[in-house]
Amino acid sequence: MSIISDSLKRIKPSPTIAVTQKARELRAAGKDVIGLGAGEPDFDTPDNIKNAAIRAIKKGDTKYTAVDGTPALKKAVIGKFRRENKLNYSTDQITIGTGGKQVLYNAFMATLNKGDEVIIPAPFWVSYPDMVLLAGGKPKIVKCTEQEGFKLTAKKLKKAISKRTKWVILNSPSNPTGAGYTKKEIQSLAKVLARNKKIYILSDDIYEHVRYDNFNFFTIAQILKLKDRTLTMNGVSKSYAMTGWRIGYAAGPRDIIKAIGKIQSQSTSNPSSISQAAAVEALNGKQGFIKKRSHAFKQRRDFVVKSLNNIKGINCLKPNGAFYVFPSCKGLLNKKTKLKTDTDFVKKLLEKENVAVVQGSAFGLDGYFRISYATSMKNLKKAMNRIKSFCESLE
Ligand code: PLP
Repeated sequence: MSIISDSLKRIKPSPTIAVTQKARELRAAGKDVIGLGAGEPDFDTPDNIKNAAIRAIKKGDTKYTAVDGTPALKKAVIGKFRRENKLNYSTDQITIGTGGKQVLYNAFMATLNKGDEVIIPAPFWVSYPDMVLLAGGKPKIVKCTEQEGFKLTAKKLKKAISKRTKWVILNSPSNPTGAGYTKKEIQSLAKVLARNKKIYILSDDIYEHVRYDNFNFFTIAQILKLKDRTLTMNGVSKSYAMTGWRIGYAAGPRDIIKAIGKIQSQSTSNPSSISQAAAVEALNGKQGFIKKRSHAFKQRRDFVVKSLNNIKGINCLKPNGAFYVFPSCKGLLNKKTKLKTDTDFVKKLLEKENVAVVQGSAFGLDGYFRISYATSMKNLKKAMNRIKSFCESLE
């Protein structure tokens, strides 16, 4: 009999973390590896935020806090939703967790019974299906094509709904494609969801502030008839370059928020008191950093998309958010190149040219790969040259 539980056997380690780890190992072994696998901004946390954390330490904010977040941070989160999304919440509709990841995990653990279905549009963030599986639920993957901009359509949503559907996940802008849903697109999904009154919506807005070309961010809770059935998750990790601080939050129905707190009270307790103080400053302090940073990301995106589309066999859509692109390598998967799958492509690229990217199949769509351009322009230039040489060598 194995010591490992059956529920753990249902899941696998995160493939994106695995690629980052592999790149780290190769680098430690002396190889000149360019890692384009990481899902975090390469910028540092702004100084005003760091200073707020230092002040918190000096002031003695070093003790347990309320399990689901300090009153000050909850107030800052309420202010953020009101200011940026025109959404009003009260304190008992807010929860703070150790990263957006913990909030999502708790939400599934708190709500899923065995066999409950969660609609997950693919390509998806790698953790959604495994979190659902761990909680005993059933991921219902709906593949969204390149022609659909990798976005869920009302027709596909309608088809995926069953009596067991408990949640549908929306992630805009998306990891791994960068695709953002327009207000109109969200409205058409909302029409379907308004008719299916038992389904809850999990909106993962973690990339809200990483967007380009005047893309208007719209979140589904803004459709007020769905607000009572929507859990909106967000956090400071990506917007404020604070991945290591581990602060995420969510707003939504009181019963779910309370249940999330209950799980947290018996598992991790409160997120770090110091990180919470820093997050208050991130949300309430000056926001100019976001625009400047988005400008730098946009330049990188434009460069990467253009470079990739100049490579024979590669095709890349230009996304309007996040710091990822999701190019197709289908044009290079054939007998002549001896590459059958995106995993072959990614493995060979790492072996031959020391560039680490993640295979599309890890995100639920074969024939693609994900590039994170959250790295310097210098690295990106080198990486694009190497990818080009690699693809040309296959001819
Ligand atoms: N949701 C998506 C789509 C993400 O890409 C990530 C992080 O990679 C998260 C949630 C989790 O963010 P956090 O670092 O706040 O846990």
